[in-house]
Order: sequence, then structure tokens, then C-alpha cells
Amino acid sequence: MVALLGILILPACSQGVLENIGTKTAAPIAEDNIEVVAAAENDAGQNSEDRLYPEQIDTRNWIRAESTVQLPILMYHSISEGNNLRVPREEFQSQMNWLRENDYYTLSPREAFLVLTENRMPSEKCVWLTFDDGYTDNYTEAFPILKEYNMKATVFMIGKSIEKSHHLTEEQMVEMSENGISIESHTINHLELNRMTVEQQEAEMVQSKDLFDRILQQDTTVLSYPVGRYNEESLRLSEEAGYKMAVTTEAGGASRDQGMHALHRVRISPGLSVDGFAALIENASRY
Ligand SMILES: [Zn+2]
Repeated sequence: MVALLGILILPACSQGVLENIGTKTAAPIAEDNIEVVAAAENDAGQNSEDRLYPEQIDTRNWIRAESTVQLPILMYHSISEGNNLRVPREEFQSQMNWLRENDYYTLSPREAFLVLTENRMPSEKCVWLTFDDGYTDNYTEAFPILKEYNMKATVFMIGKSIEKSHHLTEEQMVEMSENGISIESHTINHLELNRMTVEQQEAEMVQSKDLFDRILQQDTTVLSYPVGRYNEESLRLSEEAGYKMAVTTEAGGASRDQGMHALHRVRISPGLSVDGFAALIENASRY
């Protein structure tokens, strides 16, 4: 039954993103988590953090933002053609080119976390590029462009889709992760978390984290809720499972005021002009 459900729900990703029904607007987890987060970082700094992020990020020269940072987290799925979740390669290339020409810095998950929680930025203009579902074309189409432009991005992979038709292989995931493309979790079965029991949600989050931790020898720190569906329990369970952030499909720039486990994203649809792309990003940015 679970397998059948998975098959039925997987193609519904597009509908969920479009409808955006029943998604929950989350309250911030902490009233003000700057001190809390900073303390936690320091505590962990000497052991696991060092292993996770061997190159410590030196934020001393980062620019301090004047107000709470609002960061555009761009959401892509497939880089191909055919439906409203597929952005053609030429459009994607033009968008990356615009980012490059306009001096945008592309963040790693670790950097994005610091930008959002410490309110400091490595560059005046930053974006976080994300791809949901882990399609093969992320490797064949997007990856060469990102590499050429020296840009970082994050792919949210579905555990059960590894090595499956039209999805990334383990080998591709490892190669990407060694070249600036972080692989993070989109759960094991890509089911709607808000329809699950606490135990089921926990299993999806914990098992996928374990899987990606093992395959990529990393600490997986970001979760993307399948079809953007989650509830109040998801926010808590995501944190308890060890994720530092979770992203939704709610539209707009991300800020810590949303809660670090309910971050909004900017959906990139096909047919967008470069001017339209620029406007989306500029409207979602606040420093
Ligand atoms: Zn998805």
C-alpha cells in the first residue's frame, strides 16, 4: 500500500506546488534564535562540526545586514521541457548568466544557514539555488552550467529514487557533492508529511538523513518537505531529526522569522523572461 501510494503521489508534486492548499504557515520556532544558535554552533564547533564542514567558513569579512535578511531560495525541479515544473536548459543558462553578470553569490547550505541566523552575508547579493526530486537532468544539464560558472547549488533527493529511471545515481550524487552541489533530503518516499502519524514522519526524516549521511559521508542538514506539505509536528520532528533547516514551497524570500524549519522559496517556472527572473529575485531580497 505504501509503495502504491508513493507511485500515485509522486507525479502530484506539480499539483501540490501549484495548489498550495493546506500548507501551514508556521510560527517561528524561537522568538529570537540568534543567541541560541550561536551558542549551539560554538558547542558543536570542536567536534562534529569540524568534520562536517572541514573548511571552516570565516565570516569575519562578511557584510552585516541592516535589517533581518530576506534571502531568495530559488526552487527548480527538472531542467528540461514539457510541463510547468520543467525549466528549459536555455532559460536556466540565461538565468545563471544573469546571476553571474549581476554579481550574485550562490550559497552552500552552511553559508545560507549563517546568512539567515547571523544576519551577515559573504557578498552584497546572495541566492541559494535548490532543485527538488533529484532528476538526472540536474546532473546532465544543470551541473555543467553550474560548474562552468563556479556556482553552488543544492539538490533535494528522494531516498527511494536513487538509481531509478530519470533520477540521480549514487555515483552522480557523490560527484556533484564533491563539486559544489550539496545533496540534501527530500525524505525516503516523497509522501505528504501532513497526512502521516508522528512516527511515520519521524521515520521519513530520520531514515533519509541516515541514508544521505552514509552515502555522502556528510551530516545532512536540510530537509525539503515533499509537495510542500507539512504540519506543526513536522517543524519539531525536522529539528529533532538533526536538520538545521527545512524548506517549503511557500512563496517569497526566506527569513528566520518564518522559522528555520519553514523557509519560503521562490519558484522558477518555465517561460520566465530574464527581466521577470530578475524581478522575482530582487523582490525576494532584503538586506
Ligand atoms: Zn518533490
